[in-house]
Amino acid sequence: MQRRKIATVVGARPQFVKAFALSRAFDAAPDFDERLIHTGQHFDDNMSAVFFDELGIPPPAHHFSIPGAAHGAMTGEMLARIERVLLDERPDAVVVYGDTNSTLAGALAASKLGIALVHVEAGLRSFNRAMPEEINRVVTDHLSRVLLCPTRGAIANLAREGIAQGVHLTGDLMYDATLHATPVAERKSRILERLRLVPGKYGVATIHRAHNTDGADALGPLLDYVAAEAKRQPIVFPVHPRTAAALARAGLDAKRPGIIVIEPVGYLDMCRLLHHAAIVLTDSGGVQKEAYFHRVPCVTLRDETEWTETVDCGWNRLWRTPDYKPRRDIADYGDGHAAEEIVEILRGAL
Ligand code: UDP
Repeated sequence: MQRRKIATVVGARPQFVKAFALSRAFDAAPDFDERLIHTGQHFDDNMSAVFFDELGIPPPAHHFSIPGAAHGAMTGEMLARIERVLLDERPDAVVVYGDTNSTLAGALAASKLGIALVHVEAGLRSFNRAMPEEINRVVTDHLSRVLLCPTRGAIANLAREGIAQGVHLTGDLMYDATLHATPVAERKSRILERLRLVPGKYGVATIHRAHNTDGADALGPLLDYVAAEAKRQPIVFPVHPRTAAALARAGLDAKRPGIIVIEPVGYLDMCRLLHHAAIVLTDSGGVQKEAYFHRVPCVTLRDETEWTETVDCGWNRLWRTPDYKPRRDIADYGDGHAAEEIVEILRGAL
């Protein structure tokens, strides 16, 4: 039996959720041996450890602690550390997820060493190069040997950039994660009781994109928008550490009438919150999709989205667009078995 050694680079919250789905499938495959490298990009317990504990993600084989710094310094430090691990571990492939600085650092480290790079969530584009995430996505896709796309739109985006080789449609790992976690969350999470929320009678808001938090004027209007929605129904707002820092810097207080400000919650609490919400307001890529997985209408707190099918199918709208398009099911995102599909693709490709 040919054994394949995989090094997976994670570092930020959405990557723990995706790793939860894919690491289970690697674990179940006798011919794959996966080692996790955690860059420490997210380090607070409620942004990192809670996901490993609650979701049973294997503990990282390598865990760095990289202090918050400018994008270049952070990515450079990660690159150097990941390279040392890869030289030591000599994996057959490096798996990276999504669009964070950890993704880019993993992509650069692997490709400089000539190790096959596998990008999960390839082909997503906002077409806004002012977003650090867009730079990370574009570079990573152009370095990848295996490009795993959650949607047909992502495949079309890659084709427009001349990338056709090694491209596969896989469905979305976050859908796998939602299907696994929802029944568990229903059993274990007490978040609705703790916050005294009535199912179907509240909303959930998240804001964390650098584009919304780092710019001087972006956060205030978004907060006003959430506050206006909170006049209709209570809105739970788990505040990302980057957003908390930005609010403090701007002298803004998120505690407005109807807004329930809380610390970031673990994935199971988030899953239960989303499952029973009446509306979701978010600038998160993952949460836009999860709103649809739970069949909750979403408003995206940005001027563009990578997940265009959620808008085209009437489940999502951009905050400055007043109306939803007519609602229909989304054909993308797969059947909840993206992880098994990815393992099968990698068997053929590596
Ligand atoms: N999430 C969570 N707790 C929170 C907010 C988000 O568990 O307080 C989960 C959410 O359900 C999704 C993931 O974190 O699975 C999304 O991460 P994030 O919004 O940070 O990143 P993005 O998806 O925008 O890259």
